[in-house]
Amino acid sequence: MKKVLLFFSFLVLGIITYSTDSKAYVFNNQNVGYNPQYINLSSGNPYLSHLNCATKWSYQGGKVFIKEFDYGGFVNIYQGFVDTDNGTYGVCYYNTNRQSDIRYYRAFKNASSAVRNETVVHEVGHAIGLSHTQSVNNTESVMRATGFNNKAYPLSDDKAGINAKY
Ligand SMILES: [Zn+2]
Repeated sequence: MKKVLLFFSFLVLGIITYSTDSKAYVFNNQNVGYNPQYINLSSGNPYLSHLNCATKWSYQGGKVFIKEFDYGGFVNIYQGFVDTDNGTYGVCYYNTNRQSDIRYYRAFKNASSAVRNETVVHEVGHAIGLSHTQSVNNTESVMRATGFNNKAYPLSDDKAGINAKY
């Protein structure tokens, strides 16, 4: 009887441990290397300061350091604003696995400053290699599929994902 109980508690512990340790981040096929560059399409774009939140992925200890294009090397990410309503804040379109086109739409225009900034960090997250996280980690990820954390920088799940990918 004791043995059975012991086995049972081990099993429960295993399940709890597994659920705590499981990684929720999900990779896409984008692979931009360690020093990707972005450029903002400035024509008629009043949101450049928000778009520069792309650099929030360049934090100390991170493996991928994003900077604004300095006219040397390769543009990995184009960012632009389109004043049409397509039912979402922004979309990251993949040109190749090294290059993406991010477009922000009318909902972005009508959003709060905090939501705009978080949207940029989210879309740039797609461009550098993350898909939407599993919902279990919504509060720890800017890559949540729906909703916002009102934090315009990568969170623990996002950092773990990028640092595991590169
Ligand atoms: Zn997304």
